[in-house]
Amino acid sequence: MDSDREFSDLKLERRECEKCGAAWINGQHVWGGTGNTSESSELDLAGLVCNKLGNHQCINPMKGKEGGQTWEYRAGYIDGMITERKKNIQDMNDRFGDL
Ligand SMILES: [Zn+2]
Repeated sequence: MDSDREFSDLKLERRECEKCGAAWINGQHVWGGTGNTSESSELDLAGLVCNKLGNHQCINPMKGKEGGQTWEYRAGYIDGMITERKKNIQDMNDRFGDL
């Protein structure tokens, strides 16, 4: 069996979800903009985009699956950061008064 042959004509296969604009390179989902990917990438994509926007055109194999990140999750994360920042500013004000 000639297994080298498989690697001799490597090419980038790029597929794009017509519906969500998500991109897969060689079957691996990558985030637009950052080009990042992860194990749960497709599931996160489903939670964030495909479950809401996707229809039969959507090519995400994880579409309709629960368990990925959602905007609710992200919003909670961001809310937490904002609360933290406000608290820091409040601490500063308490410490230095109104300069
Ligand atoms: Zn999609």
